[in-house]
Amino acid sequence: MAKTGTVYLTGAGPGDPGLMTLRALEVLKQADLVLYDGLANPLLLRYTNGVCERTARTRIDSRAIVPQEEVNQRLVDEAKLGKCVVRLKGGDPFIFGRGSEEAVALEAAGIPYEVVPGITAATAAAEYAGFSYTHRSHTSAVAFVTGHEDPTKDESRLDYAALAAFPGTLVFYMGLGRLSQICSQLMDNGKAGTTPAAIVCRASLPTQRVVQSTLAGLPEAASDAGLKPPSLIVVGECVNLRQADSWFERRALHGLKIGITSADHQISQTMNEVVVQSGQPVPMPLLEIHPVSTAEAERVRKQLGDLKRFDWLVFTSSNGVNEFFRHLHEAGLDSRALGHMKIATVGPSTADSLKHFGLLSDVVPQTYRAEALVEELSQQVNGQAVLWARANRGRDTLAEGLQSAGATEVTSLVVYRNQDVLQLAEAVTSQLKSGELDWICLSSPAAAKRLAALLEAASIQQATAGIKLAAISPLTAEAIVQSGLTVGVTATEHTWTGILDAISQYQRDQQQ
Ligand code: SAH
Repeated sequence: MAKTGTVYLTGAGPGDPGLMTLRALEVLKQADLVLYDGLANPLLLRYTNGVCERTARTRIDSRAIVPQEEVNQRLVDEAKLGKCVVRLKGGDPFIFGRGSEEAVALEAAGIPYEVVPGITAATAAAEYAGFSYTHRSHTSAVAFVTGHEDPTKDESRLDYAALAAFPGTLVFYMGLGRLSQICSQLMDNGKAGTTPAAIVCRASLPTQRVVQSTLAGLPEAASDAGLKPPSLIVVGECVNLRQADSWFERRALHGLKIGITSADHQISQTMNEVVVQSGQPVPMPLLEIHPVSTAEAERVRKQLGDLKRFDWLVFTSSNGVNEFFRHLHEAGLDSRALGHMKIATVGPSTADSLKHFGLLSDVVPQTYRAEALVEELSQQVNGQAVLWARANRGRDTLAEGLQSAGATEVTSLVVYRNQDVLQLAEAVTSQLKSGELDWICLSSPAAAKRLAALLEAASIQQATAGIKLAAISPLTAEAIVQSGLTVGVTATEHTWTGILDAISQYQRDQQQ
């Protein structure tokens, strides 16, 4: 029999993926199975290799489909199979999260478990909306209250007289559906209708919304704003500390849905950058990187055995750098084999990738395009042999240009294949159709062409869909225009960070 596994009752934090604890990250990395609830941000699932399953899908009446007893039993059964199980729950697992019921079931079954606390929604709601429940000058107590009690109980266990008299801030979880009753019961029990009150909807998420009013005016204000769960109701003087927009809501990418079309290792990093600026990243891989065929790999191996011949090594993409070094290492060589050559890269990202292998680029043109690289190199390659590590497709401008500049030889070495992502095309198309995307970031002419093809195949007009395009470089911008699409912004610094900076700048300009 397998050794019994451990169950981790883990807080996922309130929504912003950065608000999960280090311990939660550690256990996610070890998990064989992750059972997550509807409030845990799915972006966190990137940190696990375990099988991920959602336990509670909410129906229109907001009742969970998977009954709690079933979840409890499942945790016990999976642990008995020897699995490391993470039960990932929004906020803190024990604050209205029924995590304590799961702990009792595990205890009864003798299953080892650990509780990993999380930042509860209320904490994040105040801080991300710009007020503090316990600000010295307003109040010195705060109460977390459930607005949705056990539906099997006939009578409310909440003592509204005590709540109305409570000398501090009241925060109601799960109360939106009963907002009117909550407000009137508080007022009936003597709480002033003029008490400041607010609803914080989707706290700490890019779609966060805050409605501010008084206890008497809150139900109408909430229904005018069309707020939906998950939301918290906050009643107390502290609400007045809120400025028009909080530090979080003022971030340049706040609320924007941004399609990230990167195919490579940079996607995760770029998604994080969007999240940090309070935007919503949507992974939309258009192209994918594949290893070369066996015949091509053989050719690469041969060339790598004959590097002495070359005076220059040229890279035109980060993938080119990474794949070139993979081949080099597979051939039993390392950076020392390149010591006699000068190296040129097309832009800063490519040059950065090179640094990971301990090498600096001798030439990085100011503008990120093959023509600029040719111009920089034209004085230097006369009578020299050039090796160009590249993808299976793309422009030949570089080879032609260097040859005209007098290079004795320009050998194109295909070190990776660039292919259309076919499997995910449907998912990408449905994103395009959703009408919710604000921006799509494009990092190569090939990606621009692929996007244009997908839009055309689905008969989607860029303008009608309201999608703006951000190009990494003038070359990509040109390809966007040539494909019949419109460019919103072009990055000044030709990196993914540069693209996001350009979008931020555009948004700031729009707001002024
Ligand atoms: N264990 C969770 C709470 C689960 S109860 C925690 O500690 O946060 C579910 C309720 O939490 C929702 O109905 C809502 O009132 C609140 N909630 C959870 N996430 C929220 C968010 N991001 N913004 C506002 N309220 C949230």
